[in-house]
Amino acid sequence: MIPAVLLDVGGVITTPDHDMLRSALEPAGGDTTAAALDRAHYAGISALDGGFLASGVLNWRQYDAAVARAVGVAEERIDGTVEALEAAWRLVRGWHRIVPGALEGLRLLAETGVRLGVVSNADGTVADQLVAARVCQVGAGHGVAVAVVIDSTVVGIEKPDPRIFTFALDALGVSAEDAAGVVHVGDTIFADVRGARAAGLRPLHLDPYGDCPAAPDDHEHVRSLADVAQIVRSSQEAG
Ligand SMILES: [Mg+2]
Repeated sequence: MIPAVLLDVGGVITTPDHDMLRSALEPAGGDTTAAALDRAHYAGISALDGGFLASGVLNWRQYDAAVARAVGVAEERIDGTVEALEAAWRLVRGWHRIVPGALEGLRLLAETGVRLGVVSNADGTVADQLVAARVCQVGAGHGVAVAVVIDSTVVGIEKPDPRIFTFALDALGVSAEDAAGVVHVGDTIFADVRGARAAGLRPLHLDPYGDCPAAPDDHEHVRSLADVAQIVRSSQEAG
């Protein structure tokens, strides 16, 4: 049985603001429909993770370039679009787009009764943002009740440092011997899969489009939070 589920936020519950992305991608001729922008985030993360696996370096320009390519920006305009995206990021740091299906998936997870926590590399405001968007909160409220929300800026440690997960496990009351069964769901290899592994947890890589640049058997993949809820249910039925 899975004792608890920890959730990343960026790429799992929210993605970058569409208006921010449009400000850079529309002038370059990209397809800026909501569906194209939602999809492009994961292409960006795959490029970021792929670059990290190849070089050990995180280069968010690789994310920008892959986002631009994913929405159809022509190759000769990629460099300029990366600059426009970097400028847009400096103006608006918002990750306010709610991933389609994420709220429904989160409710399905909550309905399993499994204990939930959030572990996010963020800017100190993620708990407030999740409340404002009625996604989740610690205790009762308009969103799903979770046991804890850990923001890397608040605790001063970020994924993949395994110590960030310790805060969540302590709040969830998970013993050291049960930690190996705890699931952490995230959209990146560099922070989430590596971090969860380092903490002795079970990583589930949220990879909705099958973009993962690692070997297929390197780690487990899910397409949605509804998939995670199903995995929890199966573990409950198996006892
Ligand atoms: Mg993320």
